[in-house]
Amino acid sequence: MSIENRFRILVIDDDPFFLKILRRQLKNLGYEDVDTSTHAHQALTTLQDEPLSFKVILCDLNMPGMDGIEFIRHLLSTGFDGGLVLISGQDARILDSAEALAKAHNLNFLGAVRKPVMPAVLAEVLQRTIRKSPKGFRKPATRTYSVSEFLTALDRRELINHYQPQVCVKTGDFVGVEALVRWLHPQDGMIFPDQFISLAEEFKLIDRLTDHVLLQGLGFIAGKENLSLSVNLSMDSLNNLDYPEYVMQAVSNANVLPMQLILEVTESRLMKDRLSSLDNLTRLRLKEIGLSIDDFGTGHSSLAQLRDIPFNELKIDRGFTHGVASNPALQAIFEASLSMAKQLGIKCVAEGVEDEDDWRYLRGSGCDLAQGYFIARPMSAENLPIWHANWLDKLKRLN
Ligand code: C2E
Ligand code: MG
Ligand code: MG
Repeated sequence: MSIENRFRILVIDDDPFFLKILRRQLKNLGYEDVDTSTHAHQALTTLQDEPLSFKVILCDLNMPGMDGIEFIRHLLSTGFDGGLVLISGQDARILDSAEALAKAHNLNFLGAVRKPVMPAVLAEVLQRTIRKSPKGFRKPATRTYSVSEFLTALDRRELINHYQPQVCVKTGDFVGVEALVRWLHPQDGMIFPDQFISLAEEFKLIDRLTDHVLLQGLGFIAGKENLSLSVNLSMDSLNNLDYPEYVMQAVSNANVLPMQLILEVTESRLMKDRLSSLDNLTRLRLKEIGLSIDDFGTGHSSLAQLRDIPFNELKIDRGFTHGVASNPALQAIFEASLSMAKQLGIKCVAEGVEDEDDWRYLRGSGCDLAQGYFIARPMSAENLPIWHANWLDKLKRLN
């Protein structure tokens, strides 16, 4: 037995015969320290007493009494910090939902396994225990910030743009960037927008933030005529009827073509003043500024918006992109969104292209642009040239 296999595993399934088989399979793979339980309740009691003594839990979804979903909910309160594998004889969509739930609870989810369990699949999933380190993950939000801290940050120019490249799916060409704001906090390090955008919206500082991001971004693409710049716009900014003139002035000051700028919109809050938003967005389009419907399909960005607002780009939310190659439900949603974009004659961007399978799927899909960790993470402007050189190499290997 290798050192890596010397950890304790807990298997929960109501079927004693299945437990016996799984125990044998685990033994064959070199995992000898295995506890089993036929009741989720009983397993929880064990975990409450010694939450850190197991490194992996394998749990059946469909059990009488407490089912796997309920178990996941209770697992959180035990302090268990190991990996979770879900097992089910049910259809793949139920397993997918359970997986989404486990991830939403921030559990260290290793994978879902269908019954009958294939030894190779089991081995693969358990290997992830060794590979998965928390390092790659973003730090969870540690604290909230006050409005005065945020104002100071604006004044001290601690808010800087990172840029995430967008590439053409067909050719791989680097065609644009999305500006994603970061707060470089002198003590706390890099802070992500989910920790301060709603604060800025609440205290009516979002216009100042957008302005800052827009001007930095325009400065960055000035002189780069083959690149576009996408900027996230808060709906709040659209209540001011002078907004289109303001944007046009900024674009012309920076010597950038209007069509190089794309404003991304989601309905993160209900539009307070629908009419002025519609007025503004339509006039922006008249002036040839690009308009993109962001996070399409998430409920914040809806069909009604697509009907009413003259968008010329649709961004399929990453929730429908990553994993699309192997998930029929995602494929149905992805293809429907794409075909809607095609029929409306607008460009389609897939967000959340995280791995090679996602990328290969897109290549066969007819989607126009791709954005996501497989291509590049958001980065500071000075890192883009190195990324670009590496991307060209990666493309050669992919083709
Ligand atoms: P968004 O506009 O949908 O931006 C995409 C988010 O997904 C970014 O997170 C990006 O880092 C992340 N992302 C990109 N590729 C991948 C991938 O392959 N996998 C995964 N899991 N994630 C990926 P970020 O930078 O934390 O931004 C979050 C949201 O904050 C943005 O969502 C946008 O709505 C908002 N935001 C960012 N910058 C600004 C800004 O300047 N102004 C306003 N109003 N909102 C902003
Ligand atoms: Mg966006
Ligand atoms: Mg998005």
